[in-house]
Amino acid sequence: MKTYDSSLAPHFRQILTRREAELRAALRTAAEPAGTDGDAGAHEVVDFKDMASEESLAAVDEAQATHAALELEQVRGALQRLDEHTYGDCLDCGKSIDLRRLEAMPATPYCTACQSVREQARPAATHP
Ligand SMILES: [Zn+2]
Repeated sequence: MKTYDSSLAPHFRQILTRREAELRAALRTAAEPAGTDGDAGAHEVVDFKDMASEESLAAVDEAQATHAALELEQVRGALQRLDEHTYGDCLDCGKSIDLRRLEAMPATPYCTACQSVREQARPAATHP
């Protein structure tokens, strides 16, 4: 099994930093739909007959925002672990996480075994 080593830090830092920026942008959009920071009020006029669809859209946005917020937390944690040179180690068991898993999910804090234990404990948890 190939595992992470510190020579890969710049690679993962780049991926995680970019992902963090994407998630922050997505959350900013979800949190401030009216464009409060000088967005020229593009969405200021809300037509009442559009409200129903706006509402269902908002529910989807909220779920996405929750997911994005959770992922952002993971991404930040991963960046912190890069700084602390503990990146690539499972937070639960402390073993090295398979490099293929890190490539697929750079922000994951757990190895495959611990992740599956967590998913069995909480079957409703969203799959990454
Ligand atoms: Zn583990």
